[in-house]
Amino acid sequence: MVTGYCVKCKEKGVELSAPEIHQTAKGGYMAKGKHATCGTTVCAMMSKDNADKAISDGATKSF
Ligand SMILES: [Zn+2]
Repeated sequence: MVTGYCVKCKEKGVELSAPEIHQTAKGGYMAKGKHATCGTTVCAMMSKDNADKAISDGATKSF
């Protein structure tokens, strides 16, 4: 699963629903999804290893 920081709940490690993995202009990776509980969009920076793992776990590849 993909987790990130929810600015609305001010909570770390929240689970993202329907995460999409994007690649940034600098070549990094970013997960974008919604906090499963409150529906706020949550973004999380991730390493290539974590991006690959998230995709193999079912996240949408968006690059
Ligand atoms: Zn939230």
